[in-house]
Amino acid sequence: MHRAMTRAAICAAGLWLLLAAYAPHATAQERSQAAQLTVIRAGTLIDGVSNTARTNQLIFVRGNKIEKVADAGTAVPAGAKLVDLSKATVLPGLIDSHTHIFLWGEEPAKGGYDANILNAGIALRAARATYAVKRALEQGFTTLRDLETEGAGFGDIEIKQAIEEGTIPGPRIFGATKAISTTGGYNLEGYAPELDMPKGAQLVDGPVEARKAARQQLEHGADWIKVYMTHRSWVDKQGNLVSQPTLTVEELRAIVDETHGWQKKVACHAYNGIGLQRALDGGCDSIEHGLDMTDTQIAQMQRQGTWYCPTISPYYNDWAPADTPGGKRDRARAMTHEVTFRKALAAHLKIVFGTDMGGIPWQEPMAQEFRRMVTLGMAPMDAIQSATSRAAEMLDMKGEIGVISPGAYADIIAVAGDPLKDVDELGKVRFVMRDGSVFKNDM
Ligand SMILES: [Zn+2]
Repeated sequence: MHRAMTRAAICAAGLWLLLAAYAPHATAQERSQAAQLTVIRAGTLIDGVSNTARTNQLIFVRGNKIEKVADAGTAVPAGAKLVDLSKATVLPGLIDSHTHIFLWGEEPAKGGYDANILNAGIALRAARATYAVKRALEQGFTTLRDLETEGAGFGDIEIKQAIEEGTIPGPRIFGATKAISTTGGYNLEGYAPELDMPKGAQLVDGPVEARKAARQQLEHGADWIKVYMTHRSWVDKQGNLVSQPTLTVEELRAIVDETHGWQKKVACHAYNGIGLQRALDGGCDSIEHGLDMTDTQIAQMQRQGTWYCPTISPYYNDWAPADTPGGKRDRARAMTHEVTFRKALAAHLKIVFGTDMGGIPWQEPMAQEFRRMVTLGMAPMDAIQSATSRAAEMLDMKGEIGVISPGAYADIIAVAGDPLKDVDELGKVRFVMRDGSVFKNDM
């Protein structure tokens, strides 16, 4: 073939090579101007940042980015694809800052947490995670911070890869891989001591091991590091919630120092007491759950700019009977959490929306957390922003996700009603666009 080439063919091939070599040098602007223009007609627009909604807006989407937002009277170029959401409320794609795509519920009757690890192989777990990310996307969640795989290793990073390469549908994923706790600080537990049971997190003892675990997880693609600062909890004789602390301040500092060096952040599961205090003193970036926080601890979070991801909903699931130690603990957790959440609101802590899905079966609605937040006194617009622009800021994606404005990725959803009047509307997402592609349109 090569030897039979004519001079003309060689010239043509040479020209083609020249053009091919040139193509990557097309500017980002030239490439985006070549991409398809889609114009979304929004009846009402909640843009994720503004404190009021606007009516009759046009959202110009070019490729995977939002090009501009304009009043309805603005001219729409010929050839633009039109999406009519003029009867709908349009919002940025939602962000759930606390999920577990590899967890398949913890219902005691179905084997509880342990069944996730003991009765499911990695292929079954991957299939369930594939289901979970699709479920999230069809409910309008276009980004997840997935806070550990519960024994499924680095699977979250591989599911993320499958989504990014277009193999399966799903949200943007910020994965935490294996998470870190200590000996005696994570499941599986309660088996004969002779048995070397698998654990749902990477267990470390001492700052050297702690730093090494962070390095291993970061090496294999962790976008966040997740640590457990408390583990078991119970109710003491006075009826107070008590939580067993896990990592020491020195261990946590080693993890935080290492992770911040990679310009990544550390999410700390912490219920209350000593473990929560160590989380704050060790410099964690977000407190997960924070069931029972003192005024002093809330003030320290204000000072340090710590994010608060309360995940209220899961503490109403699977309560043990009222007269048992477990039942007392379950009720104490939910009650004190409500008090803490109200205090956090009053202190204007930086609150992000998180469901802990996976702990809650993925078949259940993610938007139930909005109802919980609003019932406990959060304004619907604040609840929406906790799942859009505020979460984006925590994820270092301010202006890129969680907002409908020029330059942001085109992650756009719509509901039929007004979520500011009835927050449950967010549980009925009818339209989902992710990265400029329409995934669902039931309007
Ligand atoms: Zn969790």
